[in-house]
Amino acid sequence: MTHTQSNLSPAITPHAAARYWRATRARDPRADGTFFLAVRSTHIYCRPSCPARRPLRRNVTFFRTREEAERQGYRACLRCRPNEISGPVALVQRAADLLAQSTEENLSLLQLTQTLGATQSTLRRAFLQVTGLKPRELAEALRLQRLKTLMRTGKSITDALYETGYGSSSRVYERSNSQLGMTPATYRKGGLGMKLGYTIAKSPLGKILVAATKRGVSAVYLGDDESQLVSELREEYPRAEVAPASNGFERWVREVLSRVEGRPPHFELPLDLQATAFQRRVWKELQRIPLGRTRTYSQVARSLGKPKAVRAVARACASNPVSIVVPCHRVIREDGALAGYRWGLSRKEQLLASERSSY
Ligand SMILES: [Zn+2]
Repeated sequence: MTHTQSNLSPAITPHAAARYWRATRARDPRADGTFFLAVRSTHIYCRPSCPARRPLRRNVTFFRTREEAERQGYRACLRCRPNEISGPVALVQRAADLLAQSTEENLSLLQLTQTLGATQSTLRRAFLQVTGLKPRELAEALRLQRLKTLMRTGKSITDALYETGYGSSSRVYERSNSQLGMTPATYRKGGLGMKLGYTIAKSPLGKILVAATKRGVSAVYLGDDESQLVSELREEYPRAEVAPASNGFERWVREVLSRVEGRPPHFELPLDLQATAFQRRVWKELQRIPLGRTRTYSQVARSLGKPKAVRAVARACASNPVSIVVPCHRVIREDGALAGYRWGLSRKEQLLASERSSY
């Protein structure tokens, strides 16, 4: 089969495909819009977060854009509707358009919701999910003339935020950082504007990669092959500046290593993560599981007050980028089986064993 290459995105590397597959299995909503998965056996393509049953890996191929999937003859899934703008995104886009057009300095949230026909809490949730900002913070951002101009040229709100660098504006950043211990999610998708330094150390579980910004730890990976760990880091934060750490966070690395050995925390490690509001809640909850103990996915869901969200909890555990620090290894299946672990079941087993023995 021949087709023009000129409109295609760069080829998807095996590492990118591995990351896409992890996001697919985790139904990670942060991945929506960054790629599409297509199923060869059904000729259907989906968003990563599609609720449908996961196909076999060998039947899946990935595309960066839906146009590429459609050019190859795939049809849009009727469940996740990857060819339509999703509900929250559409709502935020309409709200942002209103804000951008408004000459009023203080278009109130009430006026906005009345015009949009949405409740305030729906609008707030959609804003946090899509932009990582509260409606008021976005309104402030929109006062920056450049952002308004970009949006009028038809850029999406997230693109416009990237391009104006608003995502790294220290005020919004610091505020959310101090409130949540983590930074807002989607507008830093891909780690744009992040400067990540990494160190690789030896641990009882093999090689351990710790990556951090000056604000906190962003990744803790376990493996055997250093270059593999570094490329996974680059795949997880494709838009970040990634380099070996030159200074500064030895204390954090020592703390991570001490926890790998099953020792109790000496201090609270600061985190700098991309996360949805739900992932953030789950990860905080995991940090409350005491050393030497385990919880099941449904126990975690119940303690979040969302007893039905067991699968969503499991997905949030699977997408945890800071193993050890957010102890997703302490979550097991209802029947006591260890369930999965991104870094291998034997590492999970070993971690739990050393935690039990020091507990
Ligand atoms: Zn789908």
